Amino acid sequence: MVSASRPRLLLRQLHRVMAGPGSGQERLDRVVQEIARNMVAEVCSVYLVRPGNRLELFSTQGLKQAAVHKTSLKVGEGLVGLIAESGVPLNLPEASAHPKYVYLPETGEEVYHSFLGVPIIRNGLVVGALIVQNETQRHYTGEEVEAVQTVAMVLAELMGSGELIDPKELSGAGKDPYEPVTLEALTLADGIAAGVAVFHEPKIDIEHLVAEDIDVEQARLADGITQLREGLDRMLVASDMPLAGEHHDILETYKMFAYDRGWQERMVEAVDSGLTAETAVERAQQDIRARMAQTRDPYLRERLSDLEDLSNRLIRIILGYSGEHAHQQLHEPSIIIARAIGVAELLDYDRKYLKGVVLEEGSPTAHVTIVARALGIPMLGRVPGLGDRLADGDRVIVDGDMSRVCIRPTDDLDRAYTESLAGRQELAAEYAAQRDLPAVTKDGVAIDLYMNAGLLIDLASLETTNAAGIGLFRTEFQFMVSSTLPRMKAQTEIYGQVLEAAGDRPVVFRTLDIGGDKRVPFLPYVEEDNPALGWRAIRLALDRPALLRYQIRALLTAAIGRVLYVMFPMVADISEFMQAREIVEAEVARMEKLGKKLPREVKIGSMLEVPALAWQLDRLLEIADFLSIGTNDLMQFFFASDRGNPKLANRYDLMSPAALSFIHSVSEKCNAAKVPVTLCGEMGSRPLEAMALIGLGLTKLSISPPSIGPVKMMLRNLDLGEFSSFLRPLLSSPEHSLRDILKAYAEERHIPI
Ligand code: PEP
Ligand code: MG
Repeated sequence: MVSASRPRLLLRQLHRVMAGPGSGQERLDRVVQEIARNMVAEVCSVYLVRPGNRLELFSTQGLKQAAVHKTSLKVGEGLVGLIAESGVPLNLPEASAHPKYVYLPETGEEVYHSFLGVPIIRNGLVVGALIVQNETQRHYTGEEVEAVQTVAMVLAELMGSGELIDPKELSGAGKDPYEPVTLEALTLADGIAAGVAVFHEPKIDIEHLVAEDIDVEQARLADGITQLREGLDRMLVASDMPLAGEHHDILETYKMFAYDRGWQERMVEAVDSGLTAETAVERAQQDIRARMAQTRDPYLRERLSDLEDLSNRLIRIILGYSGEHAHQQLHEPSIIIARAIGVAELLDYDRKYLKGVVLEEGSPTAHVTIVARALGIPMLGRVPGLGDRLADGDRVIVDGDMSRVCIRPTDDLDRAYTESLAGRQELAAEYAAQRDLPAVTKDGVAIDLYMNAGLLIDLASLETTNAAGIGLFRTEFQFMVSSTLPRMKAQTEIYGQVLEAAGDRPVVFRTLDIGGDKRVPFLPYVEEDNPALGWRAIRLALDRPALLRYQIRALLTAAIGRVLYVMFPMVADISEFMQAREIVEAEVARMEKLGKKLPREVKIGSMLEVPALAWQLDRLLEIADFLSIGTNDLMQFFFASDRGNPKLANRYDLMSPAALSFIHSVSEKCNAAKVPVTLCGEMGSRPLEAMALIGLGLTKLSISPPSIGPVKMMLRNLDLGEFSSFLRPLLSSPEHSLRDILKAYAEERHIPI
């Protein structure tokens, strides 16, 4: 067993070995021997990642020496490969019982039963694995796991010294250094960008792992934590926040973590075990990473990544990198490369040169993704092994349209992108020039182009695009970035700011669309088999009416003296709409009774996102003031095809006669009933699709702000009468999609799509 002082003892011994004479290999061998002795383990081995994603046995005590530098496994292969792939420790009393176990006869390891392996992580990347094995079947204690993890950090430092492996190889520079590579990614924030690769983390270079004086280290840690908290407090009160409300909420969440006792205690304990303050933070951070990799709960993963962001901040503070703007300065257009990045970290970079971000991880609903989108910074995620494929300074192109990242592009590719970027800039200038021109077709039909929004920062687009208003304000974003249920006052303030920014233009507030995969911190999470079909949106609102009531109260107060437009998401049955409508009316009556001021008028609408509602339109249109077609959900239910599943992305086309005639019948019914209908799904944001929708009789589209320019340009060049006559008969055609036909139509007539 490892006593409390044992890890400390081991660290001291390792420190001595590392400072002592000998080649890198000799010192690694000695380190391995010390670990085996200290841990009373028969085997201790180190595997390091080599080119080709192989893990090579670099040193061992206990296995056959002849296997050293001969035996290797692929990342993902065997137990060692699993550790390297997952970045998570593995603690097994009987290694051979694990499904991933691979028997390597040349090592002679068959006699060993218990197995403890931890990843060796450097700059956030797994660069190897440290393995301890025993003949007896035993479960290693938590303390032992921690001791081995700490040692793995020392080994990471040894590797960084360049004596074992060319350090370029570690940063990936040694791997196909000149080859152009294109990697697939998940688009988190749209757009195209080009620049040089800047690794997000290399600044954190921890040199001193072992504490000379534990009291001094405790004081450094405590001082660092205090500075971290003060810094966040300062950011919270700073008045020139670029992100007003949401930024504030995100920082509040950070602050909650910064004051988290458990986190602090982990770090204090790590210093007690003999580490320096900065290493203690990193140790705690590695635990967070391991927990992140294990948890299936997406919400928790994202909160843990906030905590990791804070850890990086704290390390920089302890190491004396100055204050909030601790990052390396950018000097030219740059693409930030990281495993993950936090909001505060992203905002630290100079916006002038920050052109794009590529992450090994990343999630569509993470705080940082929401912020990148709002700031218009193209961001790609889910590129495993990214850090291995490029080096600092490599040219990188981020292509959010094609969901790919091009590393060291060929001259031809680079030129094509540069031209495309220049073309985009030119187009942007053209869109800006038509800002004040009316959105009217060539034959004089006026189309209302509204924009979709959800964050305060989106509001600036009202001015730049000159949108007719906000056709969909997704209120859940505020709730998703806040750690506690936003209070009524805070809600009222946000809605008030939205209305104020909109001035005379209408704003349609959609009540909370939470639940399912849109997790919020203040509601218990119940795992559902089909979250998109689950307890979400209006279903949740009607089961928990207090939430809706408070939101309505806030909206009514914010819209005093104005017209308030409210609509409900995911209505599947007309009775749901009626109940929700009654809640709004009851709130209006309550405020009247209390003698409070009210909006000039309250208009209540429904979203059409569930096909069943389309068969209740006759009745619905009698009681709803307006309708909004949410094609994102409507079409996934129409085709029974998950909107987030890339395997299905190209299977069905929204430009199919089936989908278009469905939308056509809805629009016809609304027009006949004289109930205003808007389409607010992403579909309307693409000019070709928008052309088809207008051809079907829709005259109101609510689309993403950057799409307003292209859609307006399209419709100003469209003869709607002629096009409608062309389109309508096609709705009964047996084609899988009308896309090509409509594209050819537009191209022949020089309609920009
Ligand atoms: C939709 O479903 O089309 C919609 C606009 O709502 P969301 O994308 O927020 O689900
Ligand atoms: Mg929806």
